Amino acid sequence: MSEEQSFESFGLSEPVRRAVAEVGYASPTLVQQATFHTIAEGKDVIVQSRTGSGKTAAFALPLIDRVIKPARHVQVMVLCPTRELALQVAGEFERLGKFADVGVAPIYGGAGMQQQIDALKGGAKVVVGTPGRMLDHLRRKTLDVSGLRAIVLDEGDEMLSMGFAEELNAILGMLPKGRQALIFSATMPDAMSRMAARHQREPVTIALSSDHVAPDGIVHHAYFSASGGSVPDLLKVLEIEKPKAALVFCNTKAETEMVARGLQNAGYRAEYLNGDLAQNDRERVMGLLRDERVDFLVATDVAARGIDVPHLSHVIHCGFPESPEAYVHRSGRTGRAGRTGTAISLIGPHDIGNLYLLRLTYGIRPIERTLPSAAENRTRIEAARVESLIAAAGNVSDDAMVLAKRLLTHDDAERAVAWLVERFVMGVREDDVMPPVPRVSVSPSLTAAPEAKSEPRSNGRPPRERAPRSERVESEPLRKIEVRHADPKASDETPGEEVGMESLELSVGKREGVRAGEVARLLRDVGMLAKSEVGRIHVRDRVTLVSVRAEKLDALIESLAEVKYNDVPVSPRRGDVAEAPEAATAD
Ligand code: AMP
Repeated sequence: MSEEQSFESFGLSEPVRRAVAEVGYASPTLVQQATFHTIAEGKDVIVQSRTGSGKTAAFALPLIDRVIKPARHVQVMVLCPTRELALQVAGEFERLGKFADVGVAPIYGGAGMQQQIDALKGGAKVVVGTPGRMLDHLRRKTLDVSGLRAIVLDEGDEMLSMGFAEELNAILGMLPKGRQALIFSATMPDAMSRMAARHQREPVTIALSSDHVAPDGIVHHAYFSASGGSVPDLLKVLEIEKPKAALVFCNTKAETEMVARGLQNAGYRAEYLNGDLAQNDRERVMGLLRDERVDFLVATDVAARGIDVPHLSHVIHCGFPESPEAYVHRSGRTGRAGRTGTAISLIGPHDIGNLYLLRLTYGIRPIERTLPSAAENRTRIEAARVESLIAAAGNVSDDAMVLAKRLLTHDDAERAVAWLVERFVMGVREDDVMPPVPRVSVSPSLTAAPEAKSEPRSNGRPPRERAPRSERVESEPLRKIEVRHADPKASDETPGEEVGMESLELSVGKREGVRAGEVARLLRDVGMLAKSEVGRIHVRDRVTLVSVRAEKLDALIESLAEVKYNDVPVSPRRGDVAEAPEAATAD
């Protein structure tokens, strides 16, 4: 294999060359260089290559270019461990085969059978899918493989570890004898070698050197703590590492849900992905991640296999994996195609053995780090709070500035400032083990009769008539700066009464398990509202009232029209402020 190989040296046909240029691949990756000619010559191969190395194109390119013929019947079958990977592989075939008349049919469980039968009848030359559903089609004879020229097992070791050995053997046994068999696998367990010996003919083994099996371009960090992967520890790690977008791995489905909730409660945009989710929910969550409307996807190994989302900067092993192979696979979700990434592990006492095994097997030695002590943590939070407060403070009137200066020269200034801080800045999350930095917004609220000179000058929002009773300063004729968490929370104010806001009424409430935080997310994710466009949220027994920017209300009602909350239609409508309850509450 020569490092200088280029796509020109592959001698690609014009339609494939055009597609490669359109996709934007400038030069072949190592695995593509190492395998192209062997596959193009029709040989069976076993390719040991790390995930994220460009292995999909490594088999798609020679198959499209040399193996697939013009006849309209199924000629290539690719088997993948998960639906997500199957969709990605199908997408790569579609992109690279765009000008070569390659019809692709994705065949995976959870999607409609008839739709797949129609796609097959439509003359697909490539079928890509999961073993269970593929076998289903073969047994029902809705998939004709009599003209099959090549079969690919993608992430073969993963399919075996997920218990697909029986299906794989059954499928391979039903294919025509002369077909080419390509096995791609990051690791080569004995069961994989046995399967290769049974179903391949004189395969060429192409193992990229071991340092390429473990993802390169990835920095590995390990945080040690007594509790291993607890949510508070994870929150501390996020505070330190500040990942932009991450895949967070847990070892069980239940943990994914719990960790995602923990992240959401701390204000992060997080979702979970596990095998219990219905197909459309999985696709919705993946869509949110791809569109960067979710920053943290908490997943099990199985659910996340094959996920290729280029902007993931971090993989976090919240639950440390039992096998080194799983660590390699998980970590390969970041650092895709030459990018750099960071893999972070939370290590508890029980994980030390597995960490050692990782070192022995793949030579991966995560840089050891320790979580900050409670005191260090507090110092950091205080500093962050000060920064947020300074950042949130807009322009103030000259009067206020004069008064502030006077105050600071007073002997008791510290206590007075502490009182202001306690009254207006702290409070909501003080008991949290690791409170996130509060996202604060400053809104003017007046207690004295406003004079033009004394108006706050720069925040561009009109003053409200009266501050809510609980927040009024009764004794001093001073302007009060109200600093509040941007998170939705209970208040005495009725949704829609805030200036520039109107009330949206949803026909679901506490009875349907509605929580204010989830409503806020719904409005952001489905209604496409910015955080600042959502105000107070009151969850009542049967209805929920939300303040939203007046000009967004109509569009919002339209976009929520079909939405259900726990299977109950939310039936959005304009809320009637006058009828709104006096003592409404939010959770
Ligand atoms: P894979 O290992 O097939 O999952 O590929 C990982 C990523 O590499 C995907 O996002 C591909 O689109 C990308 N990729 C594949 N081949 C190339 C190439 N020759 N140059 C740049 N990126 C590539």
